[in-house]
Amino acid sequence: MTGKIRASLAGVLLSTLVALSAHAADKLPNVVVLATGGTIAGAAASDVQAAYTSGQVGVEQLLAAVPQAKKLAVLRGEQISNIGSQDMNDEVWLKLARRLNELTAKSDVDGIVITHGTDTIEETAYFLNLVVKSKKPVVLTAAMRPSTALSADGPLNFYNAVAVAGNKDAAGRGVLVVVNDWIHGAGSLTKTSTTAVQTFLSPLGGLIGTVAYGEAEFYRGPVGRSTADSEFSLTGVAALPRVDIVMAHENMDGKLIEAAVGAGAKGIVIAGVGNGNMTQAALDSLAAQAKKGIVCVRSSRVVTGRVGRNVEVNDDKLGLVASDSLNPQKARVLLRLALLKPRSLADMQKVFREY
Ligand code: ASP
Repeated sequence: MTGKIRASLAGVLLSTLVALSAHAADKLPNVVVLATGGTIAGAAASDVQAAYTSGQVGVEQLLAAVPQAKKLAVLRGEQISNIGSQDMNDEVWLKLARRLNELTAKSDVDGIVITHGTDTIEETAYFLNLVVKSKKPVVLTAAMRPSTALSADGPLNFYNAVAVAGNKDAAGRGVLVVVNDWIHGAGSLTKTSTTAVQTFLSPLGGLIGTVAYGEAEFYRGPVGRSTADSEFSLTGVAALPRVDIVMAHENMDGKLIEAAVGAGAKGIVIAGVGNGNMTQAALDSLAAQAKKGIVCVRSSRVVTGRVGRNVEVNDDKLGLVASDSLNPQKARVLLRLALLKPRSLADMQKVFREY
């Protein structure tokens, strides 16, 4: 081979390599959208009325409403359910979690967006955070205003969620919730306003990041064990045990605690006053249930702050568990999964420390 031919072959090879790498850089991530319903898919008769119905718009319509998102990712949608998230239930949860585990195992899926209602998004996100076995980005999003409203917040939330789901830097940060420019961790966020667009806060854990018009900035990883680092699995699980939440209040007695156990609860979460407190009558009833083997967790109805062990209640003596950083609705999710196998009280408390 002459030097001339060798040089031109090298030139061809180089330009092919440059073209290939340019193509790879241009390649959009593959993001699957799983729609479950909620206000983001809601519709009202007019653009300025409060009354509306959740879960009216299908996934294809949702995708078509935000064509800009196609510049961020190759999108395809699946309808998992179309319900207001006040109706969220175990059947949808198990279906969603199983589908997520299937999809995230595929090499041609880079990330997932789940559209959901705001009412119970924190519970679904936290549940998935515990049972999805992948570090790929799984991002839930929602809206406070229906798709037909003046200044609907859904389209930009969806756009931002797609951007985060397709962003490699979002991987390994646990299940995320993207709403109103903020990226929350599943363990931290909570809904704080019935109507305001800025309803979600992460009061104890803080934000995982922010995202503005698709530009994401990440600050930190998840609080607590999550996804691939979680010990919980749905393999072989047909149903989750019943756990009820009972809210503490002035003059509380033990009747609702007893009723919960009568209805089949294997665990009880108290949405306590202050640092997981309740009346002596309620505490006596709770301790009696704990003696019978019902796992009783003290959480708080206060929006932020940990519930610590043995602060005003002697958990060691009464056989109770402190919820640590989890609010009642998330403590219920964790307890349902933790009850899938027998555990000592010490182990149960460890679970609440670690997740
Ligand atoms: N009730 C609605 C739901 O959770 C509220 C919303 O999505 O904002 O589905």
